[in-house]
Amino acid sequence: MTIKYPFECACGERFKTLNSAIHCKKCRNYSISRSCHVVYCGDEIVYGAELTEEEEERHDAQNEKEARLMDAYFESLEKEQVEQEKAELEFKRVQELELKEDHQWAIQDRLSV
Ligand SMILES: [Zn+2]
Repeated sequence: MTIKYPFECACGERFKTLNSAIHCKKCRNYSISRSCHVVYCGDEIVYGAELTEEEEERHDAQNEKEARLMDAYFESLEKEQVEQEKAELEFKRVQELELKEDHQWAIQDRLSV
């Protein structure tokens, strides 16, 4: 039996060739190092190396920091969106008021002629 996808990269994705495993796109999101740092073929490491505990901790801390930054970013986005919606509502309200005023002026104009 031949294995169709013998190369397994850091995130667990399997590939036909070593080269495509090294350039795995999923590793960017799913691998702790955000890149394909190791590729296995069976039980053997054929590219890169497993992370040391220290490296793993470093990546963990970095990923956590990024996650917090992303959370803060999305929170601020949400706030911004709410502010924008409020501003839009206010703009509409003012516009309607102005329209009403215009309308009243128009009536007055007609009356005063
Ligand atoms: Zn991968």
